[in-house]
Amino acid sequence: MRARTADDFLRELKERGARRLLRVRFRANRSTIWSLTQDATVLNVHVAYRRAPASVLDAFATIVRGRGYRTAAVKEAADQVRNWRGLVPVMEAVRAYHAQRLRRSAHRCDEDTQVTHCCATPAQRAYLRALYGYLNRSRFDGLLPDDLPVRLSNRMSTSLGHIIPAQDRRRGRFVIELALNVDLMLEGNGAERMDTLLHEMAHVADWLFDGNYGHGDTWRKWARHAGCRAETKYERPVRHRRKRAEPVTRVPPLPLALRRRAA
Ligand SMILES: [Zn+2]
Repeated sequence: MRARTADDFLRELKERGARRLLRVRFRANRSTIWSLTQDATVLNVHVAYRRAPASVLDAFATIVRGRGYRTAAVKEAADQVRNWRGLVPVMEAVRAYHAQRLRRSAHRCDEDTQVTHCCATPAQRAYLRALYGYLNRSRFDGLLPDDLPVRLSNRMSTSLGHIIPAQDRRRGRFVIELALNVDLMLEGNGAERMDTLLHEMAHVADWLFDGNYGHGDTWRKWARHAGCRAETKYERPVRHRRKRAEPVTRVPPLPLALRRRAA
């Protein structure tokens, strides 16, 4: 079976009655095999299905025609898609690739190479270090590593922050970096900056002490412990810089407790 292009896939689904569908996007995810987005007009589908037989395309057409609603027909079609034998080897290859990348980046971290392109000025870096240390002591009982790299990224678009968890045989679990969207340094984003940093620090604690990465029960426990909102951080009222190229050099004031100590 020849591998289909996204356009082939779209055309074959349209021929099967999926008339509202506008676009097909192939994805090499580790666990998600398909999703319908943008009001069920875009089908994101695992690359493994580029070589799927006609019967699996029939099942996808049923899912798309049903707009992904959990009707009996869609459920049955989703089972058929999931149980297609061709999925397994491709999925394993994708997982092996990601595991290898994680190991490689873990190794790079040993050599202290940074992963996120950090756009922080020296003053911003000092600010983030002071704030991280303060929150570690006051909200996490000082449990988090003191030397965790905290970076600023001007390349995040929808996301406000991330951590990169890693693991190797010598060090066990560790965190390569914590990065924040540089827009959080803008005036008016004080509450969101604090909340996002605590949110990411809760991910650090969850990974190091509970071995989990995500927004599950253990993460929520750490988030509540730290006193930040136990929810994901998209679509928040954050001010953004007008142009992506615009540099952000602002250094916000430190929390009062820290300023008093410095004085
Ligand atoms: Zn998160």
